[in-house]
Amino acid sequence: MTDKDTAPAPDVGRDFIRDIVEADLASGKHKSIVTRFPPEPNGYLHIGHAKSICLNFGVAEEFKGQCNLRFDDTNPAKEEQEFIDSIQADVRWLGFDWGKNLFYASDYFEQLYLWAEHLIQNGKAYVDDSTAAELSALRGTLTEPGKESPYRNRSAEENLDLFRRMRAGEFPNGARVLRAKIDMTSGNINLRDPVMYRILHEHHPRTGDKWCIYPNYDFAHGQSDSLEHVTHSVCTLEFEDHKPLYEWFLDNLPVPARPRQYEFARLNIGYTVLSKRFLTTLVKDNRVDGWDDPRMPTLAGLRRRGVPAAALRDFVRKVGVARANSTVDIQMYDHAVREHLNKSAPRRMGVLRPLKVVIENYPEGQVEELEAINNPDDPSAGTRKIPFGREIYVEQEDFMENPPKKFYRLSPGTEVRLRYAYLITCREAVKNAAGEVTELRCTYDPETRGGNAPDGRKVKATLHWVPAEQSLPAEIRVYNPLFTRPDPGANGDLFADINPESLEVLKDARVEPALADAEIGVAVQFERQGYFCADTDSNPGKLIFNRTIGLRDSYAKA
Ligand code: ATP
Ligand code: MG
Repeated sequence: MTDKDTAPAPDVGRDFIRDIVEADLASGKHKSIVTRFPPEPNGYLHIGHAKSICLNFGVAEEFKGQCNLRFDDTNPAKEEQEFIDSIQADVRWLGFDWGKNLFYASDYFEQLYLWAEHLIQNGKAYVDDSTAAELSALRGTLTEPGKESPYRNRSAEENLDLFRRMRAGEFPNGARVLRAKIDMTSGNINLRDPVMYRILHEHHPRTGDKWCIYPNYDFAHGQSDSLEHVTHSVCTLEFEDHKPLYEWFLDNLPVPARPRQYEFARLNIGYTVLSKRFLTTLVKDNRVDGWDDPRMPTLAGLRRRGVPAAALRDFVRKVGVARANSTVDIQMYDHAVREHLNKSAPRRMGVLRPLKVVIENYPEGQVEELEAINNPDDPSAGTRKIPFGREIYVEQEDFMENPPKKFYRLSPGTEVRLRYAYLITCREAVKNAAGEVTELRCTYDPETRGGNAPDGRKVKATLHWVPAEQSLPAEIRVYNPLFTRPDPGANGDLFADINPESLEVLKDARVEPALADAEIGVAVQFERQGYFCADTDSNPGKLIFNRTIGLRDSYAKA
């Protein structure tokens, strides 16, 4: 676990879902409430799911109800145990606990099957032998009604016989489907005799080879809600058109309880794509280093990158819950991350692109220990020692041979402060045959230990540095947005908008000795550079850091 503060942020936000829940409790419609988070285990969770998790678990917590984690595992062709495991780990990491309330739609396969037979017996479902193409042609369009299938008026006996044989495995994939018999002329396409079951000879992660017919989402979801006595079934707006069907099944089946569906707007963020299908393609095509690549908007990726769970909870709370779709500025997300890290992250020094500095008047072989503050905003975080000697590294970009005006850092003749150390003056830049600066020769003022001159003279720049000998080599992975534009795919091709420079690897970085045992996934601030955490690939023999986020905004303005 990378996030020590796992207690969910108190949710002060009000929204229409919370208003409905509160009213239902006040009126006595419900004595207590039950919500659920229903992921399909066909990929890793992303930051959009975090919104749904925080809403469902958050509401249950605030109103002293219960939130179930229910896997919507009705499509074994795409679902895997790896995803079931990762989803549980991610929900826990976000700070939520389903207790005993872990369920699977597949727990209800037998009951759902019996309810399908119930509909058949009541003349409300039928087996259709049409091909996929025929089904789709009969469905009609938004402007044209659908047409009835030639199989629509089979007898209940014939339907029951065929459905039982479907279950028994007598037919190949796609040969037949079970449909609800509702209304082919309905203005709502979901009510045009929707498919309830399809034949799928496919091994299921939980039920193995027991089934070769599987219920689809619409037939499984509401009934699962009812079996779990869910009171408020909260989902995203794209399910609004499914609601009449959700209710039709509940109306026509002897279900034990009556849940209600409510829809809210899904989370969209600039420079980000939250589509599982697209994220799956990135992983399968090796365009990223797996689901937990720190560039991915997955919870596993964000965790590996060093984003605290509390920052995500906070971000999602600030976005709020609305009824209209919109896109949140990425800066709002960044702000939440920086705000948390600024408070919690210890300060350290790391030099991303080192340039050697030799302090000519510093005694050869001498090393002193300087005291550095761990967090200026949190005195209880204490101090640490950093060795200082005749040779140190500073950042290449902190030196310019011919600086423009207002460049106050190192250049020949200028004096700067080394953080927690001394004032040094640059005397000379040493170059290689190619004319590149390879080393700076400087002098220090021994009277300025701690960074202040006794005569009160001012220097404008304070630079971070590390000791040459005692610092540790490190690889630093700097992440830039995965897309080059805030609205990826707006021109019709998501892949064309992938940022070829989303990952920059700095192989020669140096970090201060205190980072030898940096905790994996827990961000620290490298002074003046941003927030960084040890990557899962890191080990004491080879330190690897991810940049969680820079100190300042670096997005191109759209
Ligand atoms: P798909 O259905 O294509 O697999 P999905 O992202 O909807 O993708 P689910 O596993 O079905 O995946 O999602 C679980 C829950 O998370 C659903 O209730 C869904 O509404 C919610 N959810 C998914 N994406 C978002 C999002 N961007 N913002 C808020 N909630 C989301
Ligand atoms: Mg979905």
